[in-house]
Amino acid sequence: MPLRNAKLGCLPDSVSVPVYDRKALTPGIVHIGLGNFHRAHQAWYLHRLMQYGIAHDWAIIGASVRQADAPQRDRLLAQDCLTTLIELDPSGISAEVVGSMIGYLPIEDDNAALIAQMADPAIRIVALTVTEGGYYVDPVTGGFDAMHPDMQHDKAHPDTPRTAFGAMIAALRQRRDAGIGPFAGQSCDNLQGNGAILRQTVVSLARLSDPALADWIDQNASFPNAMVDCIVPATGPAELALARAQGVDDAAPVAHENYRQWVIEDDFCAGRPDWDQAGATFSNAVHRYEAMKIRMLNAGHQLIANAGEILSVPTISGCMEHAGIAGFFARVERAEIAPHVDAVPGITPESYLALITARFANTAIVDTSRRVAFDGSSRHTGFILPTLRDGLAAGTPIDGLALAEALWARMCEGTREDGTEIAPNDPHWDTLQAAAKAARDNPGAWLSQQQVYGDLADHPAFAAAFDRWLRMIWQDGAEAALTAYAA
Ligand code: NAD
Repeated sequence: MPLRNAKLGCLPDSVSVPVYDRKALTPGIVHIGLGNFHRAHQAWYLHRLMQYGIAHDWAIIGASVRQADAPQRDRLLAQDCLTTLIELDPSGISAEVVGSMIGYLPIEDDNAALIAQMADPAIRIVALTVTEGGYYVDPVTGGFDAMHPDMQHDKAHPDTPRTAFGAMIAALRQRRDAGIGPFAGQSCDNLQGNGAILRQTVVSLARLSDPALADWIDQNASFPNAMVDCIVPATGPAELALARAQGVDDAAPVAHENYRQWVIEDDFCAGRPDWDQAGATFSNAVHRYEAMKIRMLNAGHQLIANAGEILSVPTISGCMEHAGIAGFFARVERAEIAPHVDAVPGITPESYLALITARFANTAIVDTSRRVAFDGSSRHTGFILPTLRDGLAAGTPIDGLALAEALWARMCEGTREDGTEIAPNDPHWDTLQAAAKAARDNPGAWLSQQQVYGDLADHPAFAAAFDRWLRMIWQDGAEAALTAYAA
């Protein structure tokens, strides 16, 4: 029987369900970009609090600025916005139905319903997961990309914006004019300084059309930085089957690993749930936790996923069983990344490497190389190149990081070594693929992508290592390059 609020009592006893009265929940959070990750992470932390009998005035209203999410919205509304979370613990799989989300706004080109909801004083937090590449940041300068057509549109049409940020600004204007204080903007995307980046985008976009409003937002709203962590694969037939095997007929379940971390700056201008009671950490040193995570875990994902795609290894755990890929991952992490990562309370870079090695090797998680390799143009620039720059500045080894860039360049050519096609896997795929094809005979053509590498292409040590690796990959194969590096 399909998942419904009224049928929760009919689920098997082994499935954990909300013990709180969902009809009595009231909204406090609007979440934009309601994908799988949010439902396994922030929505779960809130659900935990609700299970403890608190935070019932903080329920989540889902939202999207993309029509592509309409089918998912229909699926979630049809099941009363309930989500079955499948925990992929290698010692046994379990299911939990999460009920902290209570609505999903209509998806509209002018975002009128979204703006009205965010202008409601009951909403005290607007949270987002709109992907790393979704913040209109110039990848080379790190500044606001004011000339992007979406930003130019929202500048010209501030009352009918097309982006999440334009909608937030329109709602904040209404709140200011009504004498209501602002909400906090909370990014849950994998970006270093995600709150600062969200502030930059919102305030800079507001400044294009209304400088006084931009000042008001900058001075009164808050944008807490946060580090988020939980590996959440995309949902496909296997995840649907996992939910059914647990006795739940959920049209949009989410599988996730048996590990979560959330470190949040305690800077919420309109209050917040006590997420720490559900295991989150409030800290003034978020940047140190996120530097460790982004430079080691997220960069590590890119190291193995690009190689996995080229060598037709479909999953991340499969990559960890592949001697060449696993050896490459371990050595780059230890020799080239860890020296640029500081310890955080209770975790050294060495112990963190052991933790992520075990997490990546979890065979219960069917996380695809393709999903992890998606959006390399944001992920390489955000996760790998900062360490490469530090290594070049400090004179520490960068050979494996250069190989990681060569593997990415090889992957973007669009074929695996077995001759099968790699379907487009990046918002900038056409540009990347053209550069990757040209780089086959002339590796410098890849590095000349200014928007990715900036002045890194001019660094002789990096350029020479990249040239050598890419030529070796094309001539002898990726495995030969991985083995040569390990030797
Ligand atoms: P998903 O594909 O399930 O959902 C992404 C959502 O973002 C969709 O609703 C999509 O429409 C929306 N979106 C994408 N680009 C957008 C844009 N430019 N503007 C507005 N909305 C946009 O993906 P997910 O697994 O939920 O991951 C989303 C983000 O969460 C990641 O990019 C990452 O920053 C963060 N995250 C994910 C994981 C994970 O393991 N999946 C782990 C940690 C953090």
